[in-house]
Amino acid sequence: MLEIVTMGNEILKRHSALAPEFDNGMKYLIKEMFDAMYAGKGIGLAAVQVGKLYRIFITHVSGDKQRVFINPDIIETSVEQDKNEEGCLSVPGINADIIRSEEVTIQAWSNNGKPFSLDAGGLLGRVIQHELDHLNGILFVDRLSQKKKERLIKLYERQNGE
Ligand SMILES: [Zn+2]
Repeated sequence: MLEIVTMGNEILKRHSALAPEFDNGMKYLIKEMFDAMYAGKGIGLAAVQVGKLYRIFITHVSGDKQRVFINPDIIETSVEQDKNEEGCLSVPGINADIIRSEEVTIQAWSNNGKPFSLDAGGLLGRVIQHELDHLNGILFVDRLSQKKKERLIKLYERQNGE
């Protein structure tokens, strides 16, 4: 089972590189990412969270199917935004209200190597934005005010005995 990297590990701040051609190695990585995500009871996971700096993330939101996004780009975001609570397998024990676009249009390659485009709102749209941030080295707490972020990091360190 792949281990999930947690906040404090510098790899989470790095930009992920374009994923190479889809092959058996990548297929296996994606399978292992789903295993790690389900083990953590998560609904989304980016490759960097298992220590692989590829632009790949997966989602499985309640009521939706398993989705794989390879080399994704958000090509449109709604002007409307909303605020909702988020957590992250890499920041265990911490939740915070984060402002995101209500809807996004994303283009990516699926795990059968085909390009697709998807309009997503609600929880899926939120998870997609959260996971895409990971590919650019951004954690959800980075979207908070400095003051709020510092408070949550203190709480996180206390909970994790650092
Ligand atoms: Zn996350």
